[in-house]
Amino acid sequence: MKAAVFIERDGVLNEVRVERQHAVSPLTLEEFHVNREVVPLLQKLKAAGLLLLATTNQPGLSRGYQSRRELDRMHELLRATFALDDILVCPHDETDSCSCRRPKPGLLAEAAFKWRLSLDHCFVISDKWQDAEAARAVNCTSLLLQSPWNGTVRHDLVLPDLGAIVDKLLRLRASKPLLAA
Ligand SMILES: [Zn+2]
Repeated sequence: MKAAVFIERDGVLNEVRVERQHAVSPLTLEEFHVNREVVPLLQKLKAAGLLLLATTNQPGLSRGYQSRRELDRMHELLRATFALDDILVCPHDETDSCSCRRPKPGLLAEAAFKWRLSLDHCFVISDKWQDAEAARAVNCTSLLLQSPWNGTVRHDLVLPDLGAIVDKLLRLRASKPLLAA
């Protein structure tokens, strides 16, 4: 069994635009600005033996305003920038009632099957309550970046910056090692 860090794309790996108090996902490669200062932080996680799995809800694929081709271009850039093992996408809209649109934990459960993960030993990094909720449902530890989108659900940890999140995560991992199977 392995351990992974699920990392929300928007607001962590790339910037988002804020419009009328809503975070707006970039729709084109031109609008897609990667947070390069996160690169060395993810390298620390990788060096600790964790798989790096990016997650993203992309309802625009289902609603038709996000082109698959542009999304692929953005994700090529993500893979070229960060040492990601996978990018997990929920392409559905709320009205599709899928099990993978967070706050539902389907995306995490699917990845656990594919990558043979011990979810008890996995972590979720995000700036949104939906990810803390998904993490709670499958026993991952959530570490939220302080943001207007933290909400009021039960959080494991909320920290002011990604450096603090990565340090805390590595301390938690050291205190709860995953025995090789
Ligand atoms: Zn879905």
